[in-house]
Amino acid sequence: MAKVIFSFDDKSAKKLKNKKNILGGKGANLGEMGRLGLPVPPGFTITTEVCDLFYKNKKKLPRKVLQNIESELKNIEKKTQKKFGDLKNPLLVSVRSGARISMPGMMDTILNLGLNDRTVESLKKRTSNGRFAKDSYRRFIQMYSNVVLGVEGHLFEELIDNYKLTKGVLLDTDLDESDWDGLIINFKELVKKEKKINFPQDVKEQLLGAINAVFLSWDSQRAKTYRKLNQIPDHWGTAVNVQAMVFGNMGDDCSTGVAFTRNPSTGENSFFGEFLINAQGEDVVAGTRTPQYITKKAKKDSGSKDPSMEEAMPKVYKELAKVFLKLERHYKDMQDIEFTVENNKLWMLQTRSGKRTAKAAIKIAVDMVREKLISKKEAIKRIDPNTLDTLLHPTLDEKVEKEVIASGLPASPGAASGKVVFTADEAEKLNGMMQDTILVRLETSPEDIHGMHAAKGILTARGGMTSHAAVVARGMGRPCVSGSSEITIDYELKQFKAGDVIIKEGDIITIDGGSGKVMKGLVPTVQPEISGYFSTIMKWADKFRKLKVRTNAETEVDSKTAREFGAEGIGLCRTEHMFFDEERILSVRQMILSKSKEDRNSALDKLQPHQKEDFKKIFKVMSGLPVTVRLLDPPLHEFLPKADKDIDEVARSLNLSAKEIKDRIAELHEENPMLGHRGCRLGISFPEIYEMQCRAIFEAIVELKKQKVKAAFVEIMIPLVSTESELKILRALVNKIAKEIEKENKLKLEYMVGTMIELPRAALQAKSISKHADFFSFGTNDLTQTTFGISRDDSGKFLNDYIDNKIFDVDPFVSIDQNGVGELVEIASSRGRKTNKNIKLGICGEHGGDPKSIEFCSRTGLNYVSCSPFRVPVARLAAAQAELSK
Ligand code: ADP
Ligand code: MG
Ligand code: MG
Repeated sequence: MAKVIFSFDDKSAKKLKNKKNILGGKGANLGEMGRLGLPVPPGFTITTEVCDLFYKNKKKLPRKVLQNIESELKNIEKKTQKKFGDLKNPLLVSVRSGARISMPGMMDTILNLGLNDRTVESLKKRTSNGRFAKDSYRRFIQMYSNVVLGVEGHLFEELIDNYKLTKGVLLDTDLDESDWDGLIINFKELVKKEKKINFPQDVKEQLLGAINAVFLSWDSQRAKTYRKLNQIPDHWGTAVNVQAMVFGNMGDDCSTGVAFTRNPSTGENSFFGEFLINAQGEDVVAGTRTPQYITKKAKKDSGSKDPSMEEAMPKVYKELAKVFLKLERHYKDMQDIEFTVENNKLWMLQTRSGKRTAKAAIKIAVDMVREKLISKKEAIKRIDPNTLDTLLHPTLDEKVEKEVIASGLPASPGAASGKVVFTADEAEKLNGMMQDTILVRLETSPEDIHGMHAAKGILTARGGMTSHAAVVARGMGRPCVSGSSEITIDYELKQFKAGDVIIKEGDIITIDGGSGKVMKGLVPTVQPEISGYFSTIMKWADKFRKLKVRTNAETEVDSKTAREFGAEGIGLCRTEHMFFDEERILSVRQMILSKSKEDRNSALDKLQPHQKEDFKKIFKVMSGLPVTVRLLDPPLHEFLPKADKDIDEVARSLNLSAKEIKDRIAELHEENPMLGHRGCRLGISFPEIYEMQCRAIFEAIVELKKQKVKAAFVEIMIPLVSTESELKILRALVNKIAKEIEKENKLKLEYMVGTMIELPRAALQAKSISKHADFFSFGTNDLTQTTFGISRDDSGKFLNDYIDNKIFDVDPFVSIDQNGVGELVEIASSRGRKTNKNIKLGICGEHGGDPKSIEFCSRTGLNYVSCSPFRVPVARLAAAQAELSK
């Protein structure tokens, strides 16, 4: 058996290869802080491997582990000169879970373990502080009964609230020793009533109970949900940390706090945090008392009146500031820190790389390069491309009048509007119906995670910048306003009040997580742009990446947006969207429904100028860059009239009866349109359609040329090819039109002809198909559908079952199936290149904006990816990361 327990000062831990995998993040960093010479209360870590053993051993701790716990406990006793369960100088410990990465779904920490009816009296004597001893004991009973014995936490809170009401006080700190004495009796009675057992007095039983509970919590619903949402494997397991207690609740020279070494919301390089005097553990984040700021500056900025730590505890603050700098220099990253001050002595209880908004991540990375802490490569690697999404999302339109009804803390930036809901379940339900919601809660807890995920934004009445709501929202990239004390929520009436305004469930509000404002109704938003730190990171990314990044666009506006975001061309310009315009759809319908070639041609003649104008606009925006234009692809019935009035209109225009039109529509009906008369099959049956489109494309180029405008470089793409002959015939058609236009205008046209690879046969036959193709563009949406034989539109019905049963890790329409679909891409690429070594290869499915798929494209040696305009910066960064990870 490998080593199962490491004490925090165990030197051999330093040499462990995957420290965090074995010790968990919390345990690994507690040891590392100790080795840096920082004050860490002694303790030990039971490894994540034991979690595995625990489940293999019928959810019991193996004997060897039990023995090791005994001896490590002795070690703590020696270092603290206290004894566990002792009646003179009792040692108290905390039991803390700690997975590889911080996981809100895990068991809550238990503090003050080792107290019972007798040791509490010795603690009182030893510290001459009865109030502190009793306060600690009642906290322990609450926490242990809740997380180990399963008594609902609010039952204890209610006992306290009722007691305070009778006594006529507001705060827990107003209760004295005898008050707690009484409540302790009530608490124990409550446990007896709820669980039919006496609250455990044996300290060893307490300790093992808590350790077991940590391991059991790995399998809790909360933890499982969190893992599923965040794609964390079930086999990782959690570690357990047992640590000597230090006390922030012993008086006014004591405190507890949380802090970041930089501002996690803006990235500003100044300490940022909150603390509470005479308090313990989670008091700071629980939102029951309002915490004070760490620095004078933050206090001033927020307009708070309570003294900052810098003012209230200047000496300890100075020490803390030194620790912050030391930690940043060591970890070379912004740290999220938990500390406690006991009688003016600072103790470090946790450090980890802090969660931050995308905006902060970028600023911190760029700043740290300038501070020479990290390299540019490292800066690029640090930013999660998917989070850039939040920066590319709209912000509130400043010019619009707003009805601000309340304000709170700007906990997670971004603007969001939606219907007010008061429960996580309701948010999830409405999200399923494609409705935007704002989740409004007094405060959030881990049980609300699914709702926070489903909602567009989160508003809480309580809690600070480090509250659960704030931390989780920032991690998810959800806009959040926390601690808006100006609102009063009534869950029963399903409404909240802000001043005189009453907002009911279902009413629409807008929140701005950047300013903390809450507004009535829907406030319009404006598009963001890339500048400052963001553009610096993008420039660095561009230096490292080899993959080109194009966009999928078929309008002038989208093309412009994409260029502003750095697109290097268009990878997919769908031509059919141009047909849906009101003016054109009649001609399209005439084209499809006409019985004669003449009628069809006259309809096409009407369409051609429209297409030409559209192409001109796009080719101008994409001046000098490649634009892949896909000829008509979807099944024709998508354009057909359904309403009688539309049918009559087409009938009249074609001099046919409505009945004849209806018959023709019936004729065109397909059982399975996705596999029907579409793609290049249309070009084979109705060459005049593709001819018209090619004319429009080439004439657009000619006209721009005449206007002395440098046009885009056109790549004409034939969709849904599965055989060599299809492409051969249609390529000849394109060339024929080009020749005609060259002759008419006495000039030479430069263009490419290629195909989309979206059918398995095409991938397999790449050798022969590439003879006629200047490029392949992998249409991975259809290629995924045809490889799996799954229709994307119907996959929703069983996709979740497939993910639950671990048949799929992720939705193959979101991230490319590298094994199957990926193999086809690899086969087509290498066979295509063998015949035609200069063939250009790209991907134009939705996968082109997914970082994991981009990494795959980079490995496979494609030349470019193409994605929607708003994903372009994501793809630029992901492409650089893919290159750097090679
Ligand atoms: P989480 O993973 O939820 O952050 P922690 O294990 O960090 O849980 O514990 C939460 C808080 O409990 C800490 O921030 C700290 O304030 C307090 N705490 C934990 N261990 C100790 C200890 N040994 N002494 C004093 N306070 C502690
Ligand atoms: Mg916690
Ligand atoms: Mg913690």
